Amino acid sequence: MYNRVVLKLSGEALAAGRGFGVDGDRVHEIAGEIAEVRDLGVDIAIVVGGGNFFRGVAEQAKEMDRVSADHMGMLATVINALAIQDALEKCGVHARVMSAIEMHQVCEPYIRRRAIRHLEKGRVVIFAAGTGNPYFSTDTAASLRAMEIKADVLLKATKVEGIYDADPVIKTDAVKFEQITYMDILRLGLKVMDTTAVSLCKDNNLPMIIFNMNRPGNIRRVISGEKVGSLVTA
Ligand code: UDP
Repeated sequence: MYNRVVLKLSGEALAAGRGFGVDGDRVHEIAGEIAEVRDLGVDIAIVVGGGNFFRGVAEQAKEMDRVSADHMGMLATVINALAIQDALEKCGVHARVMSAIEMHQVCEPYIRRRAIRHLEKGRVVIFAAGTGNPYFSTDTAASLRAMEIKADVLLKATKVEGIYDADPVIKTDAVKFEQITYMDILRLGLKVMDTTAVSLCKDNNLPMIIFNMNRPGNIRRVISGEKVGSLVTA
């Protein structure tokens, strides 16, 4: 059983099958699973993406300045973080959104020591607005925050069982890696996360598990230390 984890959820995970926006039922299900592991005494921090709001906008805004587009992407993650906070509270879990971009009326600013204090008090912390900087991804934010709060592991939730040598959605004979190093992910050019996030994890010895969140109970299984998904080590 891990004591402290960072769970990275993509924006699409909240949209369920629809691909866009937030599906209330799905967010509630995810919150229920998180509540279950929080009850076991595990410190849980969540980093959420923004693809469910941002991807469509990005298509229409191809000509946009990259920095402005990235600011929009980061704001999208705040919307998702608020949805998760609300769903967690409905499940009886105390939760706090902490944003890398200050917006006092909406949520707390990210302050590392305060985030750790929330975790120690049993609250789930939801890190919003990525790293607060353009040209980064929420995967990089997840690795950075995992290191800052001294998490045991970074758990990256996806819609497939783990890391494969090819896209398992396209290639049915793709082979899954039970374990792989960050170096091999870079060397083989596997599209697990962007290279900045991979290098950061590698350089700081942060283990990561990629697992399928669409299987009910998988969040508990992976946090309990059951062999689920693909383990990535430095
Ligand atoms: N983003 C950013 N800096 C960060 C994190 C995110 O600029 O530190 C922007 C970036 O435009 C990104 C968007 O926010 O595309 C949404 O994040 P991401 O694509 O990682 O979301 P996901 O695919 O996990 O839903």
